[in-house]
Amino acid sequence: YLELQGIRKLFGDQPVLNDVDLTIREGELVTLLGPSGCGKSTLLRCIAGLTELDGGRIRLGQQDLSNLPPRNREVGMVFQSYALFPNLTVADNIEYGLKMRGVAKKERMLRCEELLALVDLEDKRGAYPQHLSGGQQQRVALARSLAVQPKLLLLDEPLSALDAKIRKNLRTEIRQIQKRLKMTTIFVTHDQEEALTLSDRICIMNHGRIVQDGSPESIYSAPRTEFVARFIGSYN
Ligand code: ATP
Ligand code: MG
Repeated sequence: YLELQGIRKLFGDQPVLNDVDLTIREGELVTLLGPSGCGKSTLLRCIAGLTELDGGRIRLGQQDLSNLPPRNREVGMVFQSYALFPNLTVADNIEYGLKMRGVAKKERMLRCEELLALVDLEDKRGAYPQHLSGGQQQRVALARSLAVQPKLLLLDEPLSALDAKIRKNLRTEIRQIQKRLKMTTIFVTHDQEEALTLSDRICIMNHGRIVQDGSPESIYSAPRTEFVARFIGSYN
């Protein structure tokens, strides 16, 4: 469904992504797990079209994304810091992408109500972001990225700014929503436990490469390298 082939990205003469190959089935949630600076965010930004590739191909469904502008890629993205529009209400934030696409107000409102229900924020439709908790802001960001019905959802450490208890609740909630919508998703984290509990599959990244790709069980019980073993915490 999503197919990355030989993705390469340089910053200056520094390779940040080194021939990354990755295939994801429709409806699957794949976690990218790896240390700071290994290239996780860069890979997501390449898929979303926010960063240009230096090599490789990206296919989503029947489409080659490599040369499509971001707004035509049908990819939704949620960032670590909430990046909501501070001067727009929750509802207007959620409707923003639809408005940009010329969807009529009535339809936008209907869609917005569905999404508010999905992320359990029906009582906050008129609130401004600064009056919401971090967890609530991330639920708005999730609803906003789902509003335009993307084919692929990219979540870049959406929980890392939240405290532990809210983080656990929200990760369960995100997984439920993802399963309900059968949304093909890449979830980035550097939290091993999060990866092990949330994912259909885990890709361990290091220095711009995927060093192991498998089910949570296989990564945990059969790490292929010492790096993976140490990183996933199964090495004692
Ligand atoms: P983290 O877990 O800290 O978010 P990451 O795995 O998401 O890390 P990236 O943000 O993808 O890492 O960065 C990968 C490498 O690319 C880093 O060495 C970073 O310094 C470098 N890098 C990222 N963006 C740029 C940029 N715009 N210009 C130059 N170098 C960059
Ligand atoms: Mg990052």
